[in-house]
Amino acid sequence: MQADPNPLSAWPARKPRLLLVDDQPLQLQALYRALAGQYQSFMATSGAQALQVALDQQPDLILLDMVMPDMDGLAVLQALRGQRITADIPVIFVTAHSGEEIESRCLDAGAVDFISKPINPSVVRARVRTHLTLKFQSDLLRELAFIDGLTGVANRRQFDERLAIEWARAQRLGACLSLMMIDVDHFKAYNDHYGHQAGDDALRRVAACLREQVRRSTDLVARYGGEEFACLLPDTGAEDASRLANRIREAVLELAILHRLGAPGGRLTVSVGVATRMGPALPGWHPALLVGLADAQLYEAKRQGRDRVSVALLDAST
Ligand code: GH3
Ligand code: MG
Ligand code: MG
Repeated sequence: MQADPNPLSAWPARKPRLLLVDDQPLQLQALYRALAGQYQSFMATSGAQALQVALDQQPDLILLDMVMPDMDGLAVLQALRGQRITADIPVIFVTAHSGEEIESRCLDAGAVDFISKPINPSVVRARVRTHLTLKFQSDLLRELAFIDGLTGVANRRQFDERLAIEWARAQRLGACLSLMMIDVDHFKAYNDHYGHQAGDDALRRVAACLREQVRRSTDLVARYGGEEFACLLPDTGAEDASRLANRIREAVLELAILHRLGAPGGRLTVSVGVATRMGPALPGWHPALLVGLADAQLYEAKRQGRDRVSVALLDAST
């Protein structure tokens, strides 16, 4: 059965994933039966097992028994909230105890709702559906807020946030932080000659190419604006950043996107400005310095003829 027939809904195409937790097998079965078919359900019979399954399976929603022998529901919820990858998973408590005090304790602890035992299957289904809808809507909003719609890479907002975080970290540790600014060459002419849609396609292909080349989990590829992309590379020195920048430049060339009005080779190219922060922090340094320096290097690469890389260092001696 289709989980949600509304074509405008935020529900994903896959089956939503639930984690059902109860130390009593009969109660667990009752929950499982109430939700069978529509969802992919994982089960756990203790708090510790629930935490492990939540980490491994990343469920969309957890139905959590309040009273369990070793680790009760509140302790499980606290542990879930304490780990980044499980912190945002909504939890509904399932409890035989009722009364205002228990209810408010559940909600204060950060549960989204509670269901009383013995369960009523249609109430369980309705509550699960409501909270999954809320969860998927908030996932979608978060995604829209941080992803560039055209290319699927990070947007400017996400870039600015990550730059602030990585900059602060690098300053604190005296670590290297490299930034690449990548701009498509002669792109106005490309748009004028091949049309805006072909221009959009080319930007998508360049973004995909960047994603393929920039591989470390801590790196960030973002659309900085228009036909300009930025890559933030924590713990990466100037030499490595420059090597990667050249690899990117070559990889874009190898996409072989025809551009007869561009570089002499007749293919779409990019220019790259690289700036690397290194060594101990100086007072008055701020992230805009790194962006400004990378931008200046980009300008230099353009000035020297495009389809090239230019690199500069931001260190105590500059
Ligand atoms: P340079 O080699 O010096 O970078 O020249 P350029 O023509 O690439 O630079 P310019 O800044 O003059 O032009 C950028 C062009 O990029 C103009 C604009 O129409 C196009 N552009 C910006 N954003 C988009 C977009 O989202 N889609 C498309 N198709 N084109 C875009
Ligand atoms: Mg350009
Ligand atoms: Mg530009």
